[in-house]
Order: sequence, then C-alpha cells, then structure tokens
Amino acid sequence: MTGRLDGKIALVTGAARGIGEAIARAFADEGAFVIMTDIVDAAGLVADIGPQHGRFDRLDVRDEEDWQRVVDDVLAREHRLDVVVNNAGITGFEAEPVPHDPEHASLEDWRAVHATNLDGVFLGCKHAIRAMRQTGEGSIINISSRSGLVGIPAAAAYASSKAAVRNHTKTVALYCAEQGLKIRSNSIHPGAVLTPMWEPMLGSGPERKARMAALVADTPLGRFGMPQEVAALCVMLASDEAAYMTGAELTIDGGLLAGSAATPEAD
Ligand code: NDP
Repeated sequence: MTGRLDGKIALVTGAARGIGEAIARAFADEGAFVIMTDIVDAAGLVADIGPQHGRFDRLDVRDEEDWQRVVDDVLAREHRLDVVVNNAGITGFEAEPVPHDPEHASLEDWRAVHATNLDGVFLGCKHAIRAMRQTGEGSIINISSRSGLVGIPAAAAYASSKAAVRNHTKTVALYCAEQGLKIRSNSIHPGAVLTPMWEPMLGSGPERKARMAALVADTPLGRFGMPQEVAALCVMLASDEAAYMTGAELTIDGGLLAGSAATPEAD
C-alpha cells in the first residue's frame, strides 16, 4: 500500500499531545518518518507509532540552539528534511488565569506568549529553510489560529502572535519562491479543537458539558473540531498534492469565520 507521504522526513513541534500528536500519527500512517519534538517526553507516542516510523527529540521552540542541534541531527541521520510543522503554541492561560486583555496584560506575559508562538515559528521557518536547501524543496506548515484572523479581547497576546504567524508564513513563501526554491509555506487557522489546551477553561464536574456547549455556541457546525481533522489538512499540505499551494491560509473552524448567522427577518 502506498502512502501520500511515502519517503518524506517530517519534523513536528509540540508533538507530545493534542494537534501535534494527531499530526505525527497521521504523517506516520501516510508513510512519513516523523521526528516528534516537544519540551515534554513523547517516548510513549514513539513506542505506539513504532520506531520504524519516527523518533523523539527534545526541542524547545524558543531556543535557537535546540533548533540548530535537532535539525543538524536530522540531516546527519536522515539526510534530508521535507516537512516542518510549526505546531507548538501556548495561550498563556496554562499556569494560572492571568489577565490577557489589552489593558491589563503584563509585558512579561505578552512576551512569553510571543516567545513560543512567534519566535518559535520564526526559528522553525529559519532552520527549515536551511535544511530544505539541501534538496531545494519542502513544505512548511505553520499552525496559526482563527485568533490570527480576528481580534480576541481576552487573549491579546495570543491573537497578536497568531496574526504575526499568518503574515510571516506569507513572507517565507515569497522569500523561498524568490530564491528559486520549491519550499512552500502555508498557514492553518483552526477554530476550537478539543485538545488538552482547553482543559484549564473546561474544568471537570457537572459544569464541564455546559462550558463546552457555550464555547462552541457561535460555531455553525455546533461542535469542537477534532485534532485528526486538523491533521488531515496537514497531510494534504505536506504531500505533493499541494505542490501549487504556497502563501495560503486555510481555515478549519466549523464555519465560524464564514460570516454572520443573522437572518434577513431579524435585520
Ligand atoms: P496543547 O497544549 O494540547 O499541546 C501543545 C504541545 O506543545 C504540548 O505538548 C506543549 O507542552 C508543547 N509546547 C509548549 N511550549 C512549547 C515549547 N516552547 N517548545 C516545544 N513544545 C512546546 O495544544 P494544542 O494541540 O491544542 O495546540 C497546538 C497548536 O494549535 C498551537 O499552536 C495552538 O495555538 C494551535 N491552535 C489550537 C486550537 C485549539 O482549539 N486547540 C485552536 C487554534 C489553534 P506542555 O504540555 O509542556 O505545555
């Protein structure tokens, strides 16, 4: 059986759980060899996927020395790098519920979110291009957010960082084309996707179901997206099927950004 990513070497950041884990699993299913990276160990995931389909390496996306080491290692061991998914990201709400609105967010919290979400993507693109120059082709996939396309009053740093990811993706696409490289760069903009990222907001107990329903009340399809649905989009962008796609932004949000649900009668 042939896979859509047969023979490709892919690196995924933030692969230990959530969307990153789903991407790693989908890539392996489609025949890629996956370097799963994260700040937390993903040995269990590697064992599950099978060592013939990938390996784990520790990579803090904020740290350029980590990028240098991990990408050098991929080139030494796998001799090429075809796909990089810059997936690792934080909301800033993980540790404790601190204010993230434009009036009360602290500079420290603002910088921390940008360090992971934006500096991390900048470094990921930089080292992806360096590695992909060896073959002159590749696919960079940046996981932005629907929050990168609209303002989010309670998550100013998150929205700002994701908007910058959208724009940087296009800069990278144009730069690579200008350089005569077949390195494509595209961004994905998910709406609410059910992953551990939501746990601090959902909590447990009898209120959990109501909180989940409230969070997707404005979503036309009326539910959370699943990590596997985002992963399917990544498979397409990573594959040669997407050879003519670069600088694109793809929403996957259950219709959230399609427009207003207002009816003519109500207007
Ligand atoms: P999760 O929090 O479930 O998983 C993110 C993973 O990234 C975790 O394993 C986390 O480790 C890791 N990580 C955090 N910081 C770093 C770092 N500095 N270097 C390397 N790895 C790191 O998130 P999701 O799977 O939900 O989100 C994945 C991406 O999708 C993010 O960029 C997010 O912004 C984006 N996204 C998610 C949406 C959603 O609704 N879930 C919607 C729109 C976009 P640790 O557990 O230690 O923090």
